[in-house]
Amino acid sequence: MISSIPQIFQQAIPKELLNQCTNEFDKCSQCLMVSNGFDTKSKCCTYFPFLPNFSMGHLIKSGNTDYISKALAAGGLLLPIGICPPLGYKEKYQETRFGGDASLSCPYLSDGKCSIWSARSGVCTGFQCYSSYGDFGRMFWGRLGQVLFEMETELSLKLTDELGLPLKAHRDYYLEMLSTDPVNQRQYHLEIDPRDLWGPYYSREHQFYEKSYDLAQDMITVDLFKEQESYKWFEVNVSNSRVYNY
Ligand code: SF4
Ligand code: SF4
Repeated sequence: MISSIPQIFQQAIPKELLNQCTNEFDKCSQCLMVSNGFDTKSKCCTYFPFLPNFSMGHLIKSGNTDYISKALAAGGLLLPIGICPPLGYKEKYQETRFGGDASLSCPYLSDGKCSIWSARSGVCTGFQCYSSYGDFGRMFWGRLGQVLFEMETELSLKLTDELGLPLKAHRDYYLEMLSTDPVNQRQYHLEIDPRDLWGPYYSREHQFYEKSYDLAQDMITVDLFKEQESYKWFEVNVSNSRVYNY
């Protein structure tokens, strides 16, 4: 369903791909994976996704700042690029079987449902445990999520710079916090003073996120989407000149 793609991403995904973002599978209320050991309430949301600054700004502008509190209460890191998972989360995540540990539940999950569906991140947008189009369909969605994640990363860094915060000095730190390899995260984090990260926005983080969202509207484009490394997969595997049967 195209409507299942957050609106801010719809303007970036090339039309020919957006038209392929259909999947009639809608069985989450009777999650098939529960019989495979997934937690009955958290299911595939036993994950703490990176939420970029502009998406958090979108949520705040919709009138609810509780999302920040929820993420912080779960140990999330409040950074100019967005909200990152807590230190140590990724180690624990890698040590457990995906879906099985409710203690890893997403802070935005509420009564078994995603409370930020219209502004969820790229990795969540691309997750499909099943596709009516088989392996290729699952791969399609997985790659879409990867391109969106790359775009979110690039854009959240760019917005930090555009809004006047020192990016060069902290770029490595940010990339480390986004990395799937958590080995050096603690060391990097120890060396960081939040006042240096946030500058004039220290204690005014909400405003920074809101400004990020305002700026992002014009920066999220099809060109930006196509510039991402993982987009190549679509160039090779998805042609817009034929009817798909995957
Ligand atoms: S997408 Fe998640 S909630 Fe839906 S059926 Fe698959 S594992 Fe269950
Ligand atoms: S943001 Fe929403 S979809 Fe993503 S893990 Fe959290 S609750 Fe699930």
